[in-house]
Amino acid sequence: MQKVVGRSDFDELITPVYSPTHLIPVRGQGSYVWDAEGRRYIDLAGGVAVTGLGHAHPELVAALHEQSQAIWHVGNVFTNEPVLKLARKLIDATFAERIFFVNSGAEANEAALKLARRWSSVTAPGSEKTEIVAFDQSFHGRTLFTVSVGGQAKYRDGFGPLPGDITHLPFNDLDAVGEGIDERTCAVIVELVQGESGVRPADTTFVEALRQRCNETGALLIFDEVQTGIGRTGSLFAYMQYGVVPDILTTAKALGNGFPIGAMLTSERVGMQFSAGTHGSTFGGNPLAASVANKVLEIVDRPETMDGVRKRSAVCIEALHRINARHKLFSDIRGRGLLIGAELLGEYAGQSAELVEAVYRAGAFTLMAGPNVLRLAPSLVIHEDVLLEGLRALQAGVEDFVSRFHCLSHPQSDC
Ligand SMILES: *Cc1c(COP(=O)(O)O)cnc(C)c1O
Repeated sequence: MQKVVGRSDFDELITPVYSPTHLIPVRGQGSYVWDAEGRRYIDLAGGVAVTGLGHAHPELVAALHEQSQAIWHVGNVFTNEPVLKLARKLIDATFAERIFFVNSGAEANEAALKLARRWSSVTAPGSEKTEIVAFDQSFHGRTLFTVSVGGQAKYRDGFGPLPGDITHLPFNDLDAVGEGIDERTCAVIVELVQGESGVRPADTTFVEALRQRCNETGALLIFDEVQTGIGRTGSLFAYMQYGVVPDILTTAKALGNGFPIGAMLTSERVGMQFSAGTHGSTFGGNPLAASVANKVLEIVDRPETMDGVRKRSAVCIEALHRINARHKLFSDIRGRGLLIGAELLGEYAGQSAELVEAVYRAGAFTLMAGPNVLRLAPSLVIHEDVLLEGLRALQAGVEDFVSRFHCLSHPQSDC
């Protein structure tokens, strides 16, 4: 059969900001995904922690289908019923009193950072309270403001001139908090688990110190829960396990289970500093996206969903330790809930992409988190048998990876 499109078309048609692997997923059901060749995989990645309830979840399909027959778009000169229900749900479930809806994580952070600057200019007019403090290795998105705030130079190099008055401090460093945040600081933004750069959880003492220092200096505390939100870590948001409440929280990835939607959650005091016309988004809070997100929250909120995250997390961690006992390739296995990282030992440094490729060949999707860390972000509701099948594929991929690696580094041996 003649194929209409294939992987090679990517290189001809798409701006080369990604380098997708050879296989093209065409269908998903739960945590199974099939590629264009008809081969089946177990999805332990979920996009990047996006499809928290797996693929084609029947309740989500029904919610989207129903709304698609009612109304798709009304714009922001009207409000719509799904978005109001969603706002009510988020407010009832969290610290928040005001919500602003967007389409992505970067856009949620962009709104949070703009709101912080606006809040400062309204509540401390004429002062120089404009500094944004962020952390080394953090990731907050790809708009010009969010790459500037993010703690990885490679994402902002070559895009200057950049927005100013942004400072980066070392992550999890208590000593840096006291001096690094002062009366000039407008807001501090932090991931509770640094996702993209290696699945590094923030220490509780560190997050507590940030809250205290923000209180002392009158700075806003922003939690970027774009990746950790919507049940991923075993509670609706990770801040609930830290017992520390932010002034602003951003979320996106799993909120629509793959249907694009993000949100910025905040208090009345802060949120009311945006007034009509100061910010906006054509598609933010679109009825289709909001209908899906309503159903996502309803499912994640069921006690069995969060209990299931804890159980499945333990299964994953145990499997990784078992694999490591056999093959000795990880120096650390860490994470929260179903956001799990396994850091490669020094001799395998820089090899996480190779490992992910080997696991594809063995029949599962995993992720890298930087060059040295393998990341798992399976569905929160993955069937236990399917999870075990996926972890067996992971083990087979590790075996293949390790033996290839040793053949390449010892070519004279018996490979
Ligand atoms: C993915 C991610 C973002 C960016 O989200 P987009 O939807 O790609 O714009 C921001 N912050 C964190 C912590 C993320 O993991």
